[in-house]
Formats: sequence, structure tokens, C-alpha cells
Amino acid sequence: MNKIHVMNEVLANKIAAGEVVEKTMNVVKELVENSIDAKSNKIRIDLIDSGVKKIKVTDDGVGMSKEDAVLAFSRHATSKLSTLDDLFNIESLGFRGEALPSIASVSKLTLKTCDKQEGTMVFVNGGKIEKIEKSDLKEGTTIVVEDLFYNTPVRLKYLKNLYIELANITDYVNKMALSYPNIQFTLTNNDKVLLNTDGSNDLLKVIYEIYGSQITKKMIEIHGENEDYAITGYISYPEVAKTSRNHIMTFVNGRFIRNNELNRTIIECYHTYIPKDKFPIVVFNIEVDPILIDINIHPTKMDIKFSKMNDLKDLVQQIIKPKLKALSLIPNITSLELSEVTSEKISAYPNEEEQTNKYTVSEAMTLDLNYEKEKILPQENKDPDIQLENDRIKYMKPVGIVHATYIIAENEDGMFIIDQHAAQERINYEKYLKAMSREDDIMTQLLVPISIELSNKEFIIFNENIELFKSIGFEVEKFGVNSILVRAHPYFLPKGYEEMAIRKIIDIICEKEEFHKDKFIEKTAITLSCKMAIKANDVISLEEAEILLNTLRKTENPFTCPHGRPTIITYTKYDLEKLFKRAMN
Ligand code: ZN
Ligand code: ZN
Repeated sequence: MNKIHVMNEVLANKIAAGEVVEKTMNVVKELVENSIDAKSNKIRIDLIDSGVKKIKVTDDGVGMSKEDAVLAFSRHATSKLSTLDDLFNIESLGFRGEALPSIASVSKLTLKTCDKQEGTMVFVNGGKIEKIEKSDLKEGTTIVVEDLFYNTPVRLKYLKNLYIELANITDYVNKMALSYPNIQFTLTNNDKVLLNTDGSNDLLKVIYEIYGSQITKKMIEIHGENEDYAITGYISYPEVAKTSRNHIMTFVNGRFIRNNELNRTIIECYHTYIPKDKFPIVVFNIEVDPILIDINIHPTKMDIKFSKMNDLKDLVQQIIKPKLKALSLIPNITSLELSEVTSEKISAYPNEEEQTNKYTVSEAMTLDLNYEKEKILPQENKDPDIQLENDRIKYMKPVGIVHATYIIAENEDGMFIIDQHAAQERINYEKYLKAMSREDDIMTQLLVPISIELSNKEFIIFNENIELFKSIGFEVEKFGVNSILVRAHPYFLPKGYEEMAIRKIIDIICEKEEFHKDKFIEKTAITLSCKMAIKANDVISLEEAEILLNTLRKTENPFTCPHGRPTIITYTKYDLEKLFKRAMN
């Protein structure tokens, strides 16, 4: 029986969205997906000039008969599936059966294939079959696409940037290699090997081929499942974070997909571990019953909707968060180099406006937080619910302070450099967050109500949302023209911040954003943690430094400040020995 049958017209039209062949990447994608469908174990992609001059895809899969090979160039022929519903139920990728005729219509295409009985060669020039001959090919299929778009000069001009074409193809082949670690992928451009995986079904080996050994060492295996979803894969240590979110790669049943909500959930797990504009490397394989997903097909991308999205999000968090929590994340000097910190401007970190804080140390000291009297430096923590055995970092003895900013400390593992401001920010942040997140409706009654003057626009917004303020624990009322009177506020606000908080909430509503109490608390905790921390250039004693370090050690994530900057870096003993040539290699 011929493997190719003519597919139904509806499907053909739905899929033929007119963008099937636009870039060299689309051609590579079509050919590679055909090779995967043909159950290949090895797929080799050789490009000349990023594929503009020549694309050759060689596989060892199930070849075609002579009849199928010819039929493959007629429109709407496909061996893949007959209805859209099949898309995720069958192990087929190359569902756009009309792609081959499309590619052939804008290039000089040679197809060689062998179905174990006879070898066939078909040559198509600008869509016209010019030759059908016997071929000496013994297995699989080889397709050579030359002079792409030679007969469509308009499109050719889009291909001017060979570097971008190549980057897109590499990106695509990387993703295929990650989703099919059992297939050996080779990618070359002008004879230079860009990717070469071994097909041994070892995902970490594929990651190694793509990212190199330094990053591979910083990948953590993950797995977990609930009733509907099973996830396996790898996530990176926060310190190897990338500047682009392109390295968060999710695959559903072996197919690369995009789902913004899923990506956001993954990024949120890294919240405060990495700066806002940095992203982890993540390879996620999600196994799910196809009935739980809804696909929005577009020829160039794959958007997916999950039913039970919240369950999936919970699972993702359950998998990632404990892994990050269990890590020791003090970057040492060698890993800092690979984390792009040295190659990128430090300004890539969010600006904390440390310099423009409106509270100085002494002011901050006198600010009376209403839920806890506190000094500028934390007290040695006697809190019984902090378990000592959970210390994430060993004891470090401070031995000096450099530039009134960096504490130098040591223990038997090496030397540590701690940013005093970042360290205290982390301590404050966790403390404030905990205090503010208390699930009770306690309100703080003010002895003297505070009056706040608003602009007329703000006043209108306040009036429209007065119920919202009441619902989160404010006792507020209108007071004269464009003014409001605050008689009580939610417990979570520290004294002195009522006005700031109310203005902030109004700002949020003004920007037509939805007000989320949790997010608001989170942001307030970050802002406060910075304002209330010792600054760079504030002189502290070694005793105070010791208390600071001991308290930092007991935080949940002592390794980064709430903005994602590192609090602590280390020269391990071995690093030092290496640097002073006491240790070789
Ligand atoms: Zn700060
Ligand atoms: Zn910070």
C-alpha cells in the first residue's frame, strides 16, 4: 500500500497558511520533520551559505517507493494524517504534506530515496519534475535543495542576513536534538560542524553538545508527576542565567511548544534568584494525554493550551522550587566568568537606586516598624522556628571589610566576599515578606488619622475603588476636596509607609493593572528591604558583620538579594591554590 494518500481539502487549506516556506529555516524544518516521521535514527543537515545556496538533509529512515516519491511533489499529498484531530495523537510531525511541493516550486530540488527494494531519484526544477531515474541510494532519503528562491527574487531579499538565517536554523536543530535525544543530529554550515549529537538518548549529552561543559555541570536533573502530567528534564543553576528567555524550552509529547503562562511559571520559580532581565536554561519534557491540550496550529509555531493549567503550574513549582532551595549557590570565580557577569555590563542588573534612598542609616534606625522593633542590624536570631541544621552556608568568620562595602570572610572551604547591602536586603526581605503575608485581617488603628491629598484624577480613581481599599484592610474616607483620611490600615504596612502604600495602590490601578495583594506585598517587601538596609559605604564593625553573616546563613535563599544580585561570591581554597600556582591544572 502506498504510504501517501491525498489528504482532505479542509485540512490542506487550514494548514496552507501561506507561510510554509519563507525562510531557509522553514525548509530545514520541513525536511527534518519528514526525516523524523520516516523513523530515522540519524539525520544530517549540511548547509552551504546558511542554506541559501544549498540545503542537504540526509536520513537513514524508511525510504519511499518510486510511486510515492513522485506523488510527494503533487499538492495536498501527505502520508501523515487525514484530520486535524490526528495531529497530536499520532507520532507525526510533518503534517504539512504540501510543503515539499512548495519547497520544490522555489528551488532546484533533488530527491533520492530507497525503500529497501529500489532506489529512486527525482529532480524538480522550479516546481516542474524534470527527471525520474533509478538511484544507487541504498537506504533512507536524501533531499538537496539548491538555489532557494532563485525564481522569486522578492523573497530572496529577505534572506540577505546569512547570520540570522543560520542562527534560526541552529536554534531549530538544537531544539529538535533536545526533543529527540535518541536521534543522532549533525548540522554543518560550509563544512563547519555546528552540532553533533550521538543519538544515545541521553538528554544531558545533548545539552553538553549545545551549551558546553561549563554549563552542563550547572544543570540539575528534574522530574515529577501528578495525575495528568509527567515532567522530566533539566534546569540550570541561577548563576548561568541567560539574557534571553529563548533558553526556556518546553516540549509536549516530544514536540517543541510555546506557552507563555508555563514560561512565566518557570521564571517565577527563579524569582529573586536571578535578576529580572535574566532567564534560566530549562529543558522541560511534558508528557500528557493529548485530550488535555488544545493546539493552535500555525505553520511556523506551535501554541498550546493546557486544560488543568493550574495543576500543571503547581507541578512545575513543586519540581523547581525545592531543587533550587537545596542548592548551594555561592558562585565561585570560575563560574562567574561563564555566567556572563564579566562579559556584560553590570548595569544589566536592575538599578536599585541605592544612592537616592531617602532614608539615611540613622533615620532608618529610628523608623519604628510597627510589627517589630528593630535595629539597623539584625539581632542574632533566636527564632525557634529557624532550624540550625538547615543553614544553607557554613559558618564564615569575617576577617575584614573592604571599601566599607564588602565583607571578607573565611572558613575551611575558602574565602568569601559578601556585599553588606545585598546581604542585609535579603535578610530584611524575607522578614518583611513573612510579616506582611500573615493571613489575618488585623488592622492597625491610627491614633491620629493621616490625611492624604490626591490629584483630581487620583481622587476619582480612589473613589471608584474605595471598596478595594476597604477589602484589603484600609479604613479610609473622603475628606474635603481631593483629600482622603486614613483611620486604619492593614497590619502588613509598616508605620510610616501608609501614604506611600496608598499612592502605590492608586498608581497600580491608574495603570489599569489589576491589583494583586500578594504582588503588592512582594514589591513593597523588596522596596522596604532595600530602604532599611545598611548601604555601601556605611561603616560597620566586624562584630556587626559577624551577626549579619550568621543571620544571612539562616535565610531561605542567602545567595541573592531580592533583586537577584549575588550577595556572596567565593574563592574556594582550590581557586586560591590555583591562582597562586600552588596547585597545578
Ligand atoms: Zn538595595
Ligand atoms: Zn538588591
